[in-house]
Amino acid sequence: MNAPVKPSKLIKGATGDWEIVIGLEVHAQVTSNAKLFSGASTAFGGAPNDHVSLVDAAMPGMLPVINEECVAQAVRTGLGLNAKINLKSTFDRKNYFYPDLPQGYQISQFKSPVVGEGVVSVELPDGDSIAVGIERLHLEQDAGKLLHDQHPTMSFVDLNRSGVALMEIVSRPDMRTSAQAQAYVSKLRTILRYLGTCDGDMEKGNLRADVNVSVRRPGEPFGTRCEIKNVNSIRFIGQAIEFEARRQIGILEDGGAIEQETRLYDPNRGETRSMRSKEEAHDYRYFPDPDLLPLELTAAYVDELKAGLPELPDAKRERFMAAFALTPYDASVLVAERESADFYEAVLAGLADKTRDGKLAANWVINELFGRLNKEGQDISASPVSAEQLAAIVDLIGEGTISGKIAKDLFEIVWTKGGDPRALVDSLGMKQVTDLGAIEKVVDGIIAANPDKVAQVKDKPAMLGWFVGQVMKSSGGKVNPQAVNDLLKSKLGI
Ligand code: ADP
Ligand code: MG
Repeated sequence: MNAPVKPSKLIKGATGDWEIVIGLEVHAQVTSNAKLFSGASTAFGGAPNDHVSLVDAAMPGMLPVINEECVAQAVRTGLGLNAKINLKSTFDRKNYFYPDLPQGYQISQFKSPVVGEGVVSVELPDGDSIAVGIERLHLEQDAGKLLHDQHPTMSFVDLNRSGVALMEIVSRPDMRTSAQAQAYVSKLRTILRYLGTCDGDMEKGNLRADVNVSVRRPGEPFGTRCEIKNVNSIRFIGQAIEFEARRQIGILEDGGAIEQETRLYDPNRGETRSMRSKEEAHDYRYFPDPDLLPLELTAAYVDELKAGLPELPDAKRERFMAAFALTPYDASVLVAERESADFYEAVLAGLADKTRDGKLAANWVINELFGRLNKEGQDISASPVSAEQLAAIVDLIGEGTISGKIAKDLFEIVWTKGGDPRALVDSLGMKQVTDLGAIEKVVDGIIAANPDKVAQVKDKPAMLGWFVGQVMKSSGGKVNPQAVNDLLKSKLGI
């Protein structure tokens, strides 16, 4: 059970506070070369109908054959979601008129999905975390695409996607704010990418969510929900929830009732609108697909897949936190992408003293490097500063050769011109002056030149800052500010 949501996260209605309840059905395209029941390619971007086998086109007499790799990917995903793997599952026909799925039914898993209950832990930017229950994960076929803009009087159909394997991952209604739902989808995407079971590319539609939203008074039973279909960006998921919750609150506060229905989010108008009234399971006339035997797995097969899994984000996060005292949120930023985590690990590997500087290195990766990459709209694979270079900069700070402030200038030089940071510090004379004698000379000079200020500082200790500033300025920022402070205090007798 998650802690109750803070009152500040509730929505203030005209008649009191409301709580949002959210459950997501995420469709994730399985990473595999071939479709779920045919050998046709899943490559993105082919000419329309380039990747269509006779099975996908539903030619009479064609029979589906399960693609073992898709099953393995679903099992890996289930393991990554800490979920129960069902050693026996079945495929059903979900009957419907789909102009873009010529079979006239979708092969899906209704009663017995391949993956059962699991749980995902989700970290939020404010430092909280919640557990989101997974109800099930099942395999199903994707449909094709209708093209209405190619001809003045006809619609065309592109079946390239028809039959591609999808995993539908159904959450429990465990989320209470739009930020939680967004963080859940990000976390899910992170896990899928680590596992290599879905590329998580929302722009291509490879990950999309049906967003179920209802509202209630805190502590009351769940209200009636509406399902917003096929939302394909994390930003839109947040916007759709906020709009939909307020729409429902408006109806309820006017004394109306919510009708369960399927809605669409229109990002241009920032609103949801009704698509159809909700259909029930019995409307689909589900029945076991007679062309497919039940899917039976052995425990040994599942164990083998488990042994082959990479280290997952939660384990990595815990490891970073334990070793370098990182905050949970900083650690979750580092592990959000496998490439970023790998980069941080490469920086760690390059450090002279990991124990001393592991946390400093995390700050530099997150604040300076990620900050700069974000500003430039680049990702880590295009970073002009390598892990070795960043490790060298962190070493130089950690050992006291340069100050954090000078390190920022050095970072800028390495970013724009490249080069070996240690050699640059030498050739550009960026070394921090640690020689107390040299600092003392500067301090003495400034005291001698400003007798009036010296007289004032005894009554106004805040003026010490002025002296520190002068010393820093005349040394080009290369002296240790703490050493300057101490020296000035003793010389000025304050
Ligand atoms: P169906 O099969 O009719 O779509 P499910 O019971 O499988 O219904 O639920 C689908 C999704 O709706 C799940 O993600 C679940 O968490 C969510 N959900 C169920 N009840 C509610 C509710 N009252 N408010 C918000 N979401 C809900
Ligand atoms: Mg459903």
